[in-house]
Amino acid sequence: MQTVFISDLHLEPARDDISSQFIEYIESLGTETERLYIVGDLFEAWVGDDAPGPLGLQVIEHLARLTRRGVHGFFTHGNRDFLIGSEFLKQTGFTLLDEETVIDCYGTQVLLMHGDSLCTDDVAYQALRSVVRDPHWQADILAKSVAQRVALAREMRLQSSVQMQQKETAIMDVNQQEVEAVMRRHQVNFLLHGHTHRPNVHKFTLDGQPAQRIVLGDWYEQGSTVRWDKNGFELLELRR
Ligand code: MN
Repeated sequence: MQTVFISDLHLEPARDDISSQFIEYIESLGTETERLYIVGDLFEAWVGDDAPGPLGLQVIEHLARLTRRGVHGFFTHGNRDFLIGSEFLKQTGFTLLDEETVIDCYGTQVLLMHGDSLCTDDVAYQALRSVVRDPHWQADILAKSVAQRVALAREMRLQSSVQMQQKETAIMDVNQQEVEAVMRRHQVNFLLHGHTHRPNVHKFTLDGQPAQRIVLGDWYEQGSTVRWDKNGFELLELRR
């Protein structure tokens, strides 16, 4: 049996190549896979479960088929698709995880997070994050028309890309003190996240114990996944 993890697909209608690879990947998961964790940013934008669009509907259908085959699906909100809600979950059969969730991987306790909250050096982003993750702000947004939400999402993405060009890359990576603090809080030696688009396995010492931070990659040029079974984990590139 195995458990697999993916994140940062940033699915959008303009990138057929990513959607095709994603659907192929989902369909390739057979009975040896017991759990699939999508650790945020499945979509480049999600304006509400009432407006999935053709691509959203297609993704929902494939995820629903996967869970009907008996694979347990779990989802963590990313900074792009934090408006994924109960209707999406009901339709796909996926379970929403808390922002910070500890899971058992064949005897190893692993903390799962999207990863954006670890980037504490990016003060401007963290300020924006606390706004968009506020349930009241989200309720206000969801009360707007679909057209208004689409316009707002476009505006936010534009602002974010302008700001990212102005920031030093180090600021947009995780802060090691924050990594250690959250791992200590959950008493784990393994952390798995996405968001930074810097796939890697970082080994370090946490309070005298060997610790690892596993980072999933994005799917812009190839896929990225972590598979975990009783023998441990591997971070894999999926060529296309
Ligand atoms: Mn992200």
